[in-house]
Amino acid sequence: MMKCPVCGMDCVRSAKDILATLPTIFEPCDDCSARFRDKRAPLSDLTYGVACSCGKRFIDDVFAHMWVIMTEQGDLEKTAPLAAVGSPLIHPGFAMERPPFLPDKSLVLLSPRVTKPCADILVREVPELRGVVRSGSFVPGIADPDLNTVPRVYDLLAGCDVRADVFPLRTGPLVMYKQQSLVHIEFPRGGYPKIQAVEQHVGKPPVPYFIDACCGVGTLGLAAACMGVPLVVMNDAWYASAFWSAYNLEINREYLHLDKIRIFEQYDDMQKHPVAKDPLKIAETGGDQVIEVYQGDYRQLYRVLPAGSPVTALDLFDKNDRQALDAIQKDWQARVGGDVFIP
Ligand SMILES: [Zn+2]
Ligand SMILES: [Zn+2]
Repeated sequence: MMKCPVCGMDCVRSAKDILATLPTIFEPCDDCSARFRDKRAPLSDLTYGVACSCGKRFIDDVFAHMWVIMTEQGDLEKTAPLAAVGSPLIHPGFAMERPPFLPDKSLVLLSPRVTKPCADILVREVPELRGVVRSGSFVPGIADPDLNTVPRVYDLLAGCDVRADVFPLRTGPLVMYKQQSLVHIEFPRGGYPKIQAVEQHVGKPPVPYFIDACCGVGTLGLAAACMGVPLVVMNDAWYASAFWSAYNLEINREYLHLDKIRIFEQYDDMQKHPVAKDPLKIAETGGDQVIEVYQGDYRQLYRVLPAGSPVTALDLFDKNDRQALDAIQKDWQARVGGDVFIP
């Protein structure tokens, strides 16, 4: 059992435990009922369904319940549409074909409107909620490529906002945990194009050395590791990304050939250096696979990289400036060499 670094409780499970629940976790039982509601309209009456005897409730009923509380508390006008409650982030998240039936503690709500007192009531009264986050009209985490401004984050108001997304790999699904208020939202999309790009560049048999230079919570680097790459380096300048990359090693370790995982810094300590330029080693593994996690500016990473000719994924935040991207890619090639791709 792993202790959650945010709330200290048992809200984090291993990849194996998560995957065991997956086929049916959001499926209704024979007694479950679904009442679809118009998300662009306010509730016509102040009623909402309660959970079925199986413990699940249709997502629209959960939203209706939250809408009633938020209007009672004054966070929403009575004319506000159901969608104004906020954005649902399901735990564990994966590409779904139908709206889910939610079991307990399977939803993190992101809302620009919610206040702290109301968030407390929501978490107390809506069993499907794990946590309530006040969001803003910006992407949480690092937005300045030169790392000179203090990143903005969303506010965790109540409960816990640690949740996982699940990504399919040919070796088995990868489970990636994150603290949602601190990192950008990835809606798992069908097809998973970035993962496919990694599969293509890693190849079979796998390349000897892979770098995920702007790794976020570690999805692409861990995907490469799961495909059997013996040496993987992951790096991100943002403390929450670097921390969760290290943590996700532990979560997915049953896929990997590791004797041990050493994590050098705890979450609380890393908050004291939220953005790092000089690469700082956050974690490393021993065993047949060597995986290193750094917090730092990817442009400084060449100073600490193991020797060799890597395949590098440069998953940059801003992919719109084609010229800047070319320059960054050329620069990386000159300093580090190997094969560079932008997933
Ligand atoms: Zn937690
Ligand atoms: Zn049911």
